[in-house]
Amino acid sequence: MEDIRGMSLEALKNYMVASGEKAFRAKQVYDWVVKGVSDFDAMSNLSKPVIEKLKKAFVIDNAKIIEKLESADGTIKSLHQLSDGNVIESVFMTYKHGYSACISTQVGCRMNCAFCASTLGGMARNLKTSEMLGQIYEIQNETGKRIDHVVLMGSGEPLDNYDEVLGFIKAACDETGLNLSGRNITLSTCGLVPKIYQLADEQLQITLAISMHNPFNEERAEIMPVTKKYPIEEIVKAVSYYIEKTNRRVTFEYALIEGENDTERHAEALGKLLKGKLVHVNLIPINEVAERGMKPSLQKQINRFKDILMNKYKVNTTVRRELGSDINAACGQLRNQHVKTLII
Ligand code: SF4
Repeated sequence: MEDIRGMSLEALKNYMVASGEKAFRAKQVYDWVVKGVSDFDAMSNLSKPVIEKLKKAFVIDNAKIIEKLESADGTIKSLHQLSDGNVIESVFMTYKHGYSACISTQVGCRMNCAFCASTLGGMARNLKTSEMLGQIYEIQNETGKRIDHVVLMGSGEPLDNYDEVLGFIKAACDETGLNLSGRNITLSTCGLVPKIYQLADEQLQITLAISMHNPFNEERAEIMPVTKKYPIEEIVKAVSYYIEKTNRRVTFEYALIEGENDTERHAEALGKLLKGKLVHVNLIPINEVAERGMKPSLQKQINRFKDILMNKYKVNTTVRRELGSDINAACGQLRNQHVKTLII
């Protein structure tokens, strides 16, 4: 059965009229969906027969929170159960400017990045637009806060699920729906070059983030196998095209791993690669992934790295605040533990 959370207002209007109801009922239903109800019976301004009709045609409860971990800084990591039993993760974060949700776009991921827990169980399937919206609704229900920033950086490679992710972005920005600003949506990719060109041509005002993590192809390929298919030079070329088309600043995410990618040689090469471009580097001291044997860089090394980028190459650089480090916030870790408990 179709998930009502994935229906646009227009599609709901068509359904209502086709099923013999007045078109204005569609807006009533849509408002309830956007409010996050997960039970048709809660749609209190609809008549019983209309509710029964909806129940026969649609499902609604698609990303129920079954477990959560709350950090001392207010970060909440949630495990959502999908209607087919699969589980995914989201993270709710509080910032000065409001509330942000980092959501998943796939169950697992097939990009196989060495530092990422999402990949340990492989890739099960793509998420639907409705399941991405469902994560937002459920987080809002759970916290009572309105999400105004969304980061597509949970489990999954968003550009590997292009059409559904694009559907999500459009639905999330719908003025009659969640009404998010495109500028408040960040899409993070490991660098699927043809899809970056395709996304550039959509001319959305979202923020594109590239998971870079190493400026040398051979080394990057060891932690991010996608580099063998799409080398760094090709990614940077696609990013330049994206900037030209959208006039938006692109973020480069760089997770610092002790002894792996945090030396001066790496900082120099990254600086040369990005110098003079409309970009911003986000340095992330990684959360430890026990299964991968990887540790975060020392503070001294992080400072040196930033200094080279900022002062020598004039590349705008920040060190990301580590949120929720006490609750396994690295992507895929909560899901991973849940899957483990299911297996054991
Ligand atoms: S870092 Fe992102 S792209 Fe890489 S395996 Fe994890 S979820 Fe996939």
